[in-house]
Amino acid sequence: GTQKARTGRLKKPFVKVEDASQIYRPFYLQLTNMPLINYSIEKPSSPFDVDKPPSIQKQTQVKLRIRTDDDKCGGFPIQLQLKEKKKKGYCECCLQKYEDLETHLSTEQHRNFAQSNYYQVVDDIVSKLVFDFVEYEREVPKKKRIKYSI
Ligand SMILES: [Zn+2]
Repeated sequence: GTQKARTGRLKKPFVKVEDASQIYRPFYLQLTNMPLINYSIEKPSSPFDVDKPPSIQKQTQVKLRIRTDDDKCGGFPIQLQLKEKKKKGYCECCLQKYEDLETHLSTEQHRNFAQSNYYQVVDDIVSKLVFDFVEYEREVPKKKRIKYSI
Protein backbone atom coordinates (compact mmCIF):
# COMPACT_ATOMS: atom_id res chain seq x y z
CA GLY A 1 0.00 0.00 0.00
CA THR A 2 2.77 2.44 0.92
CA GLN A 3 4.53 1.91 -2.40
CA LYS A 4 1.59 3.30 -4.28
CA ALA A 5 1.58 6.41 -2.14
CA ARG A 6 5.26 6.98 -2.88
CA THR A 7 4.90 7.25 -6.61
CA GLY A 8 3.14 9.81 -8.67
CA ARG A 9 3.26 13.43 -9.62
CA LEU A 10 3.36 16.49 -7.45
CA LYS A 11 0.28 18.63 -7.22
CA LYS A 12 0.66 21.99 -8.91
CA PRO A 13 1.90 24.56 -8.06
CA PHE A 14 5.20 23.21 -6.72
CA VAL A 15 8.97 23.71 -6.65
CA LYS A 16 11.21 20.62 -6.66
CA VAL A 17 14.94 20.85 -5.97
CA GLU A 18 17.19 17.91 -6.73
CA ASP A 19 20.98 17.45 -6.95
CA ALA A 20 22.07 16.67 -10.51
CA SER A 21 24.00 13.58 -9.37
CA GLN A 22 20.81 12.19 -7.77
CA ILE A 23 22.55 11.10 -4.57
CA TYR A 24 20.29 13.05 -2.19
CA ARG A 25 16.59 13.14 -1.57
CA PRO A 26 14.84 15.87 -3.49
CA PHE A 27 12.93 18.43 -1.49
CA TYR A 28 9.71 20.09 -2.38
CA LEU A 29 7.59 23.11 -1.84
CA GLN A 30 3.92 22.78 -2.55
CA LEU A 31 1.65 25.71 -1.93
CA THR A 32 -1.89 26.57 -2.79
CA ASN A 33 -0.64 29.99 -3.90
CA MET A 34 2.91 30.71 -5.07
CA PRO A 35 4.42 34.02 -3.87
CA LEU A 36 3.20 37.04 -5.76
CA ILE A 37 4.87 40.45 -5.72
CA ASN A 38 2.36 42.75 -4.10
CA TYR A 39 3.13 46.36 -5.07
CA SER A 40 0.05 47.76 -3.41
CA ILE A 41 1.07 46.85 0.13
CA GLU A 42 2.32 49.80 2.15
CA LYS A 43 6.08 50.24 2.73
CA PRO A 44 8.06 48.81 4.48
CA SER A 45 5.95 45.64 4.42
CA SER A 46 7.33 42.73 2.46
CA PRO A 47 5.89 42.52 -1.06
CA PHE A 48 5.23 38.87 -0.26
CA ASP A 49 2.99 39.72 2.65
CA VAL A 50 -0.54 38.97 1.66
CA ASP A 51 -2.88 41.77 2.69
CA LYS A 52 -3.76 40.64 6.19
CA PRO A 53 -4.94 43.58 8.27
CA PRO A 54 -5.65 41.43 11.37
CA SER A 55 -2.07 40.15 11.68
CA ILE A 56 -0.62 43.65 11.26
CA GLN A 57 -2.90 44.82 14.04
CA LYS A 58 -1.65 41.98 16.22
CA GLN A 59 1.95 43.01 15.71
CA THR A 60 1.36 46.59 16.76
CA GLN A 61 -0.62 45.37 19.75
CA VAL A 62 2.33 43.29 20.93
CA LYS A 63 4.68 46.24 20.50
CA LEU A 64 2.38 48.46 22.52
CA ARG A 65 2.15 45.86 25.24
CA ILE A 66 5.90 45.59 25.53
CA ARG A 67 6.16 49.36 25.81
CA THR A 68 3.64 49.42 28.62
CA ASP A 69 5.59 46.65 30.34
CA ASP A 70 8.58 48.95 30.41
CA ASP A 71 6.43 51.58 32.07
CA LYS A 72 5.44 48.97 34.63
CA CYS A 73 1.77 49.27 33.78
CA GLY A 74 1.71 45.53 33.10
CA GLY A 75 0.05 43.81 30.17
CA PHE A 76 -0.30 40.42 31.75
CA PRO A 77 -1.68 37.84 29.27
CA ILE A 78 0.73 38.42 26.36
CA GLN A 79 3.67 38.98 28.66
CA LEU A 80 3.06 35.64 30.35
CA GLN A 81 2.69 33.88 27.03
CA LEU A 82 6.02 35.25 25.84
CA LYS A 83 7.76 34.29 29.05
CA GLU A 84 6.29 30.81 29.28
CA LYS A 85 6.83 29.96 25.64
CA LYS A 86 9.42 27.20 25.61
CA LYS A 87 12.41 27.76 23.41
CA LYS A 88 13.18 24.66 21.41
CA GLY A 89 16.51 24.34 19.75
CA TYR A 90 19.83 22.63 19.27
CA CYS A 91 22.86 22.99 21.53
CA GLU A 92 26.07 23.14 19.57
CA CYS A 93 28.12 22.47 22.68
CA CYS A 94 26.36 19.26 23.73
CA LEU A 95 25.39 18.27 20.17
CA GLN A 96 21.90 17.73 21.47
CA LYS A 97 18.39 18.86 20.66
CA TYR A 98 16.36 20.29 23.51
CA GLU A 99 12.70 21.03 24.08
CA ASP A 100 13.20 23.85 26.55
CA LEU A 101 16.25 26.13 26.58
CA GLU A 102 16.26 26.92 30.29
CA THR A 103 15.93 23.27 31.25
CA HIS A 104 18.77 22.32 28.95
CA LEU A 105 21.05 25.02 30.35
CA SER A 106 20.66 23.51 33.79
CA THR A 107 21.42 19.91 32.77
CA GLU A 108 24.61 18.37 34.10
CA GLN A 109 25.99 17.85 30.62
CA HIS A 110 25.62 21.49 29.63
CA ARG A 111 26.85 22.84 32.95
CA ASN A 112 29.94 20.67 32.67
CA PHE A 113 30.61 22.15 29.26
CA ALA A 114 29.98 25.71 30.46
CA GLN A 115 32.55 25.29 33.24
CA SER A 116 35.08 23.44 31.11
CA ASN A 117 38.10 24.88 29.35
CA TYR A 118 36.52 24.42 25.92
CA TYR A 119 36.20 28.21 25.78
CA GLN A 120 39.96 28.61 25.65
CA VAL A 121 39.67 29.47 21.93
CA VAL A 122 37.43 32.42 22.87
CA ASP A 123 39.65 33.48 25.76
CA ASP A 124 42.69 33.39 23.47
CA ILE A 125 41.03 35.95 21.19
CA VAL A 126 39.78 38.04 24.11
CA SER A 127 43.30 38.18 25.53
CA LYS A 128 44.42 40.01 22.36
CA LEU A 129 41.88 42.81 22.91
CA VAL A 130 42.71 45.93 24.89
CA PHE A 131 40.64 46.68 27.98
CA ASP A 132 40.14 50.45 27.96
CA PHE A 133 37.04 51.03 30.05
CA VAL A 134 37.13 52.66 33.46
CA GLU A 135 36.93 49.85 35.96
CA TYR A 136 35.21 50.79 39.18
CA GLU A 137 35.67 48.92 42.37
CA ARG A 138 32.78 46.77 43.38
CA GLU A 139 30.27 48.78 45.32
CA VAL A 140 30.21 47.75 48.95
CA PRO A 141 26.67 47.26 50.25
CA LYS A 142 25.60 50.28 52.30
CA LYS A 143 24.69 48.27 55.37
CA LYS A 144 28.29 47.32 55.96
CA ARG A 145 29.42 50.92 55.70
CA ILE A 146 27.19 52.14 58.51
CA LYS A 147 29.22 52.61 61.64
CA TYR A 148 27.31 51.96 64.79
CA SER A 149 28.42 54.13 67.65
CA ILE A 150 27.50 52.78 71.01
ZN1 LIG B 1 24.16 22.19 25.93
